Amino acid sequence: MRHIRYTFSHSSTDYYFAGGISNLKDIVDLQKTIFITDENIFNCYQKKFSNWDTLVIPSGEQYKVQATADRMIAQLLEKKADRKTTLIGIGGGVITDITGYVASIFMRGIRFGFIPTTLLAMVDASIGGKNGIDVGVFKNMVGIIRQPSFILHDLTFLNTLPVLEWQNGFAEIIKHASIKDAVLFKQLEESSIKKYQVRKKSLGELIERNVMLKSKLVKLDEFETGDRKLLNFGHTLGHALENLYKLSHGHAVSIGMSVAGLISEQRTGFKDSGRLIALLDKYGLPTAFEFDSKKVFEILKMDKKKAGNSMQYVLLNKIGKAVIKEIPIDNLEKWIESIASAR
Ligand code: ADP
Ligand code: ZN
Repeated sequence: MRHIRYTFSHSSTDYYFAGGISNLKDIVDLQKTIFITDENIFNCYQKKFSNWDTLVIPSGEQYKVQATADRMIAQLLEKKADRKTTLIGIGGGVITDITGYVASIFMRGIRFGFIPTTLLAMVDASIGGKNGIDVGVFKNMVGIIRQPSFILHDLTFLNTLPVLEWQNGFAEIIKHASIKDAVLFKQLEESSIKKYQVRKKSLGELIERNVMLKSKLVKLDEFETGDRKLLNFGHTLGHALENLYKLSHGHAVSIGMSVAGLISEQRTGFKDSGRLIALLDKYGLPTAFEFDSKKVFEILKMDKKKAGNSMQYVLLNKIGKAVIKEIPIDNLEKWIESIASAR
């Protein structure tokens, strides 16, 4: 197991790579720890959980809501959890988000850590301290920024990960490459999901590279006033499509990135949207989708990134170099409509 400590503005996070649940004994007190996981993962891995006090919630984004958090808090009280308790979220992004959120509000904040079990949670959702819940159609509308005390990676969880979840993880990996890492982009072009699945060593390296890339961006700008915003590439439109059409997160973001690539061609002179679209396609991700632009715009206008009549939109100057541009909502609406009807 490899250990790296990352220091953020108020706290630090210990990363443990290539570990297992058994390593937790050296990190937390078994008697004062409660696992939070979902039904799917619990059913697949009951043996791994046998020695640990575990709170199981239903699987699915529809449960990432305040009502679930309330039930979890009631159960924590029943279990006599107190300020010394550590919560460990073992699961995908839904579990890491809600675990971090509950741990941040329970008794005004207790210690928490994560064992991400999806590729997406390993390279993205578990990192950066954004913890929250959805409110109605609005994703992550309520929440808090607070860093986990540790993140432990156990890659054996990926053996049961469905292919759709691999694609979702690669959407974020391609996002990272597009905004900050041209070398990674090229590596991805030369590989595929299947190749990474059989070459465990390159998969491990890929995951670590993405963890470092995201952690560095977060560390430089923990409270999202500058560069951290680049991580929203593909997400403004992506979130709206995800909400309206119940697409998976990665699929929605992939369409969002394709559109952002095409807008970049008009706005920054970006020349490689063809390469971006081909890469997304290679990893099984959709790059076009028919949508009702009026409905999408109603949601975009409520987005947290909107200020007045314009919106901060992440575009690409070139592969590996993203920029934030202020775009008037009216222009954006016209561009997106023309891109949607041209494809
Ligand atoms: P993410 O936001 O990371 O995509 P979710 O928390 O929405 O993740 O999880 C996606 C789905 O995958 C859920 O149904 C979850 O129960 C399931 N899942 C998570 N990890 C695994 C795993 N290692 N093996 C099988 N299914 C998993
Ligand atoms: Zn995302």
